[in-house]
Amino acid sequence: MDLRGKRAVVTGGTRGIGAAVARALAESGASVLVCARHDGGAVGAGGLGPRVESTTCDVTDPASVERLVERAREALGGVDILVNNAGAASSAPVSRLTLDEWNRLFAVNATGTFLCTKAFLPGMIERRWGRVINVASTAALTGSRYIAAYAAAKHAVMGFTRAVADEVAAHGVTVNAVCPGYVDTEMTRESVERIVAKTKLSHEDALRSLLQTTPQERLITPEEVAFAVRSLCDDEARGIHGQAIVVDGGGLRS
Ligand code: NDP
Repeated sequence: MDLRGKRAVVTGGTRGIGAAVARALAESGASVLVCARHDGGAVGAGGLGPRVESTTCDVTDPASVERLVERAREALGGVDILVNNAGAASSAPVSRLTLDEWNRLFAVNATGTFLCTKAFLPGMIERRWGRVINVASTAALTGSRYIAAYAAAKHAVMGFTRAVADEVAAHGVTVNAVCPGYVDTEMTRESVERIVAKTKLSHEDALRSLLQTTPQERLITPEEVAFAVRSLCDDEARGIHGQAIVVDGGGLRS
């Protein structure tokens, strides 16, 4: 795939899925700016490749997103591809779920996606070419016990994706969500640690319990998610619009 000349912002791009997405886009020729609250050491050291720059941004903070827009203007000149990947997860039975935690997960997963999309969409519409790709989750399409806040926030991302897709359909911009199952990243490692801490399960059994709904019985790799994101950036993908692209090894089937 040839993304030469395209300019991309990847939120939460310093590790995990975001870093794999940044690497994949850069390998296809795009210039990439990644952001996170902490500037990742690997990115600073050129670990994501020569065409990837990084900056700090908290996507939940409107002033910080404004600074990201400014930084993107300096570094890239304009933004053709926005990957709303920054996110966070946690788990608790709803009776123990605090309002603070509910608000925290909505802020980073849903509000961050809204603020960044609002900031970068006008330029795409003006140039009549753009890709907005929201990294949601299978939790955006279904629910399971103990993840009420995360599932609700990711469902919000999915609703946002569908609504904005409808709004921009005539402007050369596509808006889609990629919905991974459990991916081999720090986020999943933390989920396993939480299960181990709350139960007497070993790490191996805790991971197995997470993978129960995955026919392939394995974690998805960040590179597999990046493949889906990069594919949506192709010109030939312009008909894929307002969709949830599931990457979960066959757990959810449309
Ligand atoms: P990680 O926890 O490994 O990475 C999250 C990234 O987001 C980091 O770069 C982190 O950096 C950044 N981030 C977190 N909060 C903010 C914020 N407020 N502003 C800017 N950046 C932020 O997560 P994954 O790579 O696993 O997940 C990436 C996305 O994929 C998330 O949206 C997640 O919900 C989704 N997903 C993950 C799955 C999984 O199994 N791992 C499954 C399905 C979906 P810093 O902390 O420095 O800000």
